[in-house]
Amino acid sequence: MYRPVSPVAAYQGRFAPSPSGALHLGSLLTAVGSFLHARHHNGCWRVRIEDLDRPRVLAGASAAILNTLEYFGMQWDGEVLYQSQRLTYYAEVLEQLRQQHYIYPCVCTRQQLAGKIYNGRCRTGIPESNQAQAWRLQVVGEIQFEDEIQGKFSQDLSRELGDFILKRRDGIFAYQLAVVVDDALQGMTHIVRGADLLDNTPRQIYLQQLLNYPTPHYAHLPLLLDEHGRKLSKQNHAAPIATPRPQNLLWQVLKLLGQNPPEDLLEASLSEFWAYSILHWNVQNIPRQLSVSVCQLPLV
Ligand code: GLU
Repeated sequence: MYRPVSPVAAYQGRFAPSPSGALHLGSLLTAVGSFLHARHHNGCWRVRIEDLDRPRVLAGASAAILNTLEYFGMQWDGEVLYQSQRLTYYAEVLEQLRQQHYIYPCVCTRQQLAGKIYNGRCRTGIPESNQAQAWRLQVVGEIQFEDEIQGKFSQDLSRELGDFILKRRDGIFAYQLAVVVDDALQGMTHIVRGADLLDNTPRQIYLQQLLNYPTPHYAHLPLLLDEHGRKLSKQNHAAPIATPRPQNLLWQVLKLLGQNPPEDLLEASLSEFWAYSILHWNVQNIPRQLSVSVCQLPLV
């Protein structure tokens, strides 16, 4: 049986869902991976609800996500953090970046941004107006890091990405800013999350460097793709999870994560299930990619 550990553990990990829908099989896999990684290292595992993007927040989704985690026996440490209650922290950090001239206001509309990479049009100043403005971070250089599952990853920020937004024109703080501030303020040492965020990591490391924050250790779990090669997401309506016996589905998730769970684990109680899988968790067996079609996936 795993024990809740003290919040001063050397390992601090988190699961940070956006409440735009209930957990589905893909996000359950991410939750299981980050939970097992933390508990295997005797670490703390926290939950942070990333509810800044108000137009995408679905009423009731936070509660549904937390209920699902509990139902599957993934008990988190400490209080759940809600990003919507932490706006003053993001505002303070944004102000610090402004004073250091790392960010600049931008009035470009989506239509004006022809390509994917921002051309720096507002870098040298914007016309005096009361138009709504976003705040962009000026980027230079290349960031490299070693991911525990995906291996070496590098990105030339100016060539491949361009200056990116930290606060949107509609006043909403961007995920990139909030995630970096919270991971640092919460003392996160290990970030275990879905590989869809792998190419967001260099810009987060860049921001950590500007702010003198430590860079945590990263492990990006493989994504579950549907038969068209698309990520299972709340948007493409991956089925939410409802299952009479949680360990059956967890067993399948362990298998997808390359953990080779024995058949008799299916008969185990939930706490025996976790005790076994925490002890035997092996990151080296996790596949980098999961190309399984939906019809091969466990029924949810
Ligand atoms: N909130 C993000 C999502 O649900 C995850 C953020 C993270 O783990 O850094 O995709």
